[in-house]
Amino acid sequence: MRKKRTLKISTIFQFLLGAAAVIFFVSGIMMLMDQYRQSRSRIQEIASESLRQEGEYRVLFLSSYSQSHFSVPLQWQGLKEGFDGQSVVLDTEYMDRKNHPEEETFRLFTEQLTKKLSTVSYDVLVTGDDDALSFAEEHRQDLFADCPVVFLGINNIRFAEQVHEEGWATGIPEESNFLDVFSTAADFFPDARHFVCIVDSSATGQGDLTQLSGIIGDFPGYEFDVINCSDLTQKQLIEKIEEVDAHSLIMELDAFADADGNIYTIDGMCRLLSEHSDRPIFRVSTGGVGSGAVCSGFIDFEQYGREAAAMAIAILGGQSPADIPLLYDHETAYVFDLDRMKTYGFDENDLPENSTVVSGEVPFLRQHRAILSPLLRIFLAAILVIIVLAIGFVRADADSRKLAEDERDLRHKVYYDGLTELLNRNGLFELDASEFQSACVINVDDLKFVNEKYGYSCGDEVLKTIARRLESIHDSKAIRLGGDEFLLLSARSFLKEPDRARQLEEKLHRQYTYGTIVLDLTVSIGYAEKTEGMSTDDLLTAAELAMYHGRTIHRRRGHSFYDESIREELDRKTAIINDLLEAVRENAFTVLYQPQVVTESGNVIGFEALCRFPDNKYTPNLFIPVAEESGLIMNIDRIVTQKAVQQLAEWKEAGKELPVISINYSAKQLRDAEYANFLKDLLDENRIPHDRVKIEITESSVFADKVRSERFFGMIHDMGMQIALDDFGTGYSSITAMRALPVDFIKFDKSLIDEYLVKGHLTFITDLTAMVHDLGKKIVAEGVETEEQYRLARQIGIDQIQGYYFDRPMPAEKAIEVKYQVPLNFS
Ligand code: C2E
Ligand code: CA
Ligand code: CA
Repeated sequence: MRKKRTLKISTIFQFLLGAAAVIFFVSGIMMLMDQYRQSRSRIQEIASESLRQEGEYRVLFLSSYSQSHFSVPLQWQGLKEGFDGQSVVLDTEYMDRKNHPEEETFRLFTEQLTKKLSTVSYDVLVTGDDDALSFAEEHRQDLFADCPVVFLGINNIRFAEQVHEEGWATGIPEESNFLDVFSTAADFFPDARHFVCIVDSSATGQGDLTQLSGIIGDFPGYEFDVINCSDLTQKQLIEKIEEVDAHSLIMELDAFADADGNIYTIDGMCRLLSEHSDRPIFRVSTGGVGSGAVCSGFIDFEQYGREAAAMAIAILGGQSPADIPLLYDHETAYVFDLDRMKTYGFDENDLPENSTVVSGEVPFLRQHRAILSPLLRIFLAAILVIIVLAIGFVRADADSRKLAEDERDLRHKVYYDGLTELLNRNGLFELDASEFQSACVINVDDLKFVNEKYGYSCGDEVLKTIARRLESIHDSKAIRLGGDEFLLLSARSFLKEPDRARQLEEKLHRQYTYGTIVLDLTVSIGYAEKTEGMSTDDLLTAAELAMYHGRTIHRRRGHSFYDESIREELDRKTAIINDLLEAVRENAFTVLYQPQVVTESGNVIGFEALCRFPDNKYTPNLFIPVAEESGLIMNIDRIVTQKAVQQLAEWKEAGKELPVISINYSAKQLRDAEYANFLKDLLDENRIPHDRVKIEITESSVFADKVRSERFFGMIHDMGMQIALDDFGTGYSSITAMRALPVDFIKFDKSLIDEYLVKGHLTFITDLTAMVHDLGKKIVAEGVETEEQYRLARQIGIDQIQGYYFDRPMPAEKAIEVKYQVPLNFS
């Protein structure tokens, strides 16, 4: 039971682990897919579809910077990826105004571009920053022939919205970072009340100012100062920076040039600022971290590039820029300089969710969190799968071990007797027949009686003791054939060594003890010797026959060696069975009736119906036991019953006073569950009162099958028939057991009459008679042959007599006429 439960629990555990593995795996894959999807927007997918079949398009990417500006290669890379797989040729033009602000250079650029555009026209123009968009607006007609524009990198939101409204451009304003970065700065430094914003006069810088004006209202109580580098010499700029006080935060927006004509990269400007102020420097968009800025709002230029490409593809697919909404919706990510954060008293845990950290020792986990999380899930799923498999393996192993164990158990159950641990009848055929020379079959006499009287545990103990005693016989193998029967196979002969047989019997007849109970039990033994060509099976059969033979002669303590006469006996039995079969088939039995006489009056009260073999070929004592053994008795008893009832019907018809007919009922008959109803129907059909029939059942059969006999007695009694307990005195008569049974008559057996109905030895039978009468039952004395016996029976008060003294069994027509004269008084 417990085993089963642990097995179940491990199954459930396995199942749960498996389910967890699936969940981890699926969620991991979904996260990866989500990341992929984020990098490939929906609009892109739709646009790609419509474009795929079209011919070749030309797109121009125009930037006022050059490749050396960090954002440009990223934008370009994003565009490249976005156009990947499309029939798009991507050209690039760099105005390079940050590095070369001189008007002459710019004029030459415009001239050159004009030349180029006279030979090639573009389907979409992509601008990478505010200056590039302004240039596109300015030259929309003369240079770009009203070609639609997609912009990115636009800080001047109002400008972006304006061109979108005009209908010739759409794109991605970079608005959102401002509010987020300023808020983050304010959150980290709650004491600060002053934002010092660094810009220049470039379109980008001025775009920043437009955006800045849009968020000032969100920071009531804060002062905003703008330093325009383009108006200051480097010296003036440095002085201004050094003046920045302890309540200020430096916000580096976009400043690339000073009045001295110095050009700054983002990192260059941040370095300059940090060298002259210890106040925290925030960058609103990408760059600067690592060069003095403590934090930058991170812009994923590559992603913007991909999204711009998607918009361009949509336009190539036939959509108007006016129909493609501006794309504001970007969550701000941050890049922090952890070392700098620490100098201001913050650590990694204080940083916002979507932060990347840059420092001397870049925490690996944080940097790769996005990819690590799904990978970790998939890894976990793999680990769980391994665990599930391992459990499965361990279980399979346990199962196979259990299977082997079960098989051993089963083998043991099949081949061994559970009680005595000896081999059983099946195990017998596992033995090597050639090893054995002789066999003896041992049957415990009256084990049933032991079980009945002392309980089955006592009987079991006896069997175990017998097993141990048999095992102690040398050169032999003990087997329990079943019930109370054992087999001893021996390598030596019992016939040639009669001492061994004697020793065996002596051993088995020693007293048996069970607790305080001491039993003197006997066994019946049949011996057989192996002859030429005999199998173990033949040897066993021979020993069994010898044992039965001994028992039919002695009933107890039988002892016989198998020889040809036993075989002949068996053959004779077989012949009887064949004759019985024929007689049953032909309903050829006859019935004789032996009078049962009321002792006192000599009145014939009834008859016992006794079966006769056709032509008296066999006496009842010969054929009845064989019929019982073979089960044919059930047919015979039904035949006799039918004839007896038929006889009653005839007598009734003839107007005779109906006698009581006693019908013998064999122990085997108890298996004929329908017999009682069969008898009842017969009587009812012939309208014979039920009390005209008496059933005789032997005492021993009552003990042999208590449950069935009690049920049968109950039925017979309830139907109003009488019951007699036959052969009383031959077995283990028990007055106490009899008390509970609904028995009307006790039939004293002839042996009891012969032994005790003897003048001078009457005490026992007198007491017995009184006891039976005390229980309210009547007595029939069977086998009363002499007048003396009759006289004594009458003297001690036996109720009825059935015996040769009155008559032998006789045919019905004679029986119905008999009358007896008894002396009125015995002196
Ligand atoms: P049983 O039931 O004890 O029947 C009484 C036997 O004792 C009968 O022998 C009867 O003839 C015999 N007997 C009666 N009075 C005397 C006497 O004074 N002296 C001697 N020596 N014998 C006497 P039977 O008819 O040979 O039957 C022998 C047994 O066969 C019966 O013993 C009964 O057990 C069995 N039997 C006979 N007929 C049937 C039957 O129809 N069904 C069953 N199941 N058994 C039957
Ligand atoms: Ca009888
Ligand atoms: Ca009898």
